Amino acid sequence: EIKNVNKNYFGLYSSFGIHREMISDKIRTDAYRQAILNNPSLLSGAAVLDVGCGTGILSLFAAQAGASSVIAVEASDKMAVVATQVAKDNGLLFRGSLDEGISQCTGVMKVVQGMVEELGNCDLIQPHSIDVLLSEWMGYCLLYESMLSSVLFARDRWLKPGGAILPDTATMFVAGFGRGGTSIPFWENVYGFNMSCIGKELVEDAARVPIVDVVDSCDIVTNTAILQSFDLLTMTPDEMDFTSRIELEPQLDNPKIDSTDSSCRMTWCYGVVLWFETGFTSRFCKEMPIVLSTSPYTPKTHWSQTSLTFREPIAIALAKPDADRFAAVGTEACPAVKIYSRISIARASPHRSVDISLEISGI
Ligand code: SAH
Repeated sequence: EIKNVNKNYFGLYSSFGIHREMISDKIRTDAYRQAILNNPSLLSGAAVLDVGCGTGILSLFAAQAGASSVIAVEASDKMAVVATQVAKDNGLLFRGSLDEGISQCTGVMKVVQGMVEELGNCDLIQPHSIDVLLSEWMGYCLLYESMLSSVLFARDRWLKPGGAILPDTATMFVAGFGRGGTSIPFWENVYGFNMSCIGKELVEDAARVPIVDVVDSCDIVTNTAILQSFDLLTMTPDEMDFTSRIELEPQLDNPKIDSTDSSCRMTWCYGVVLWFETGFTSRFCKEMPIVLSTSPYTPKTHWSQTSLTFREPIAIALAKPDADRFAAVGTEACPAVKIYSRISIARASPHRSVDISLEISGI
């Protein structure tokens, strides 16, 4: 069963379209590129291991940054062949790697085909010999795909004591979204026709499964809370299964929370949106620390955001009908309601997916 799941998973990564999508995500690729190229004290002369190299792009950056050796591991057979060819075509392939006998290979990059977990006794990499462990492992909602455990495996086996991991932190965030973050408004008026039955059905579906889509920051109606933080240098794989209790308050400066019009002094929260950031922090990136953010408040990435919709919306900022016309939200005349929620994330079987559960434990 697991073997089949892996076959499908790596099969997916052998299509060039997905690699094009990742490479074209400039926010993503530039964050890695800058972290690699602008921190010479970390990369120059370093022994680098790239877990899941795909086309080899991150390894090429590392070679460009002056690494003394770059080992690029890739499970998909097709992509491992492609990465080898790319390294060769750019004069960066190490002589004597996969293609023995290619005399023009003078570079530092070696490509190894296989799952990093199965390279146990690979004599290319000595235990604890790697200075910089590099990987782009993040999935939707950070943990979907669960590739992080492969990176932690590589860390424990090959990273030197004091070695660096890029990125070295990951943080998940959560905030509440309003009506505009649902399908309701779109279907209410389609060329003048009312198709709100479709919006209603979509919102009911969304209450059962998380939706990966872009949420506009102006549709967020609460503050942002941290759901979970990971330190990739020290964390253990079991930290990926967690339950976190969050508290969200209406975002009083959101223009959609209308605190001046007495007829409409109310805002509903329809669900919560999750996103993540990874940090290339000053712990290792001393010259130029970088943050890769997939927040609704920053330019969008191919990860979009992940929304969890409540079965019923919650009124989070209310006005008494007779309230003073200019009462502000959050005052006695116009109380603000907090959302208390527990969000659990667990790696699921098949092991490439995650279960997310949301419990509203009190308002
Ligand atoms: N580093 C590339 C590709 C990132 S996508 C880039 O930044 O563009 C992740 C890649 O990791 C995929 O190509 C996938 O096939 C590979 N991968 C996932 N799990 C792996 C594992 N356990 N061992 C080796 N490769 C893996």
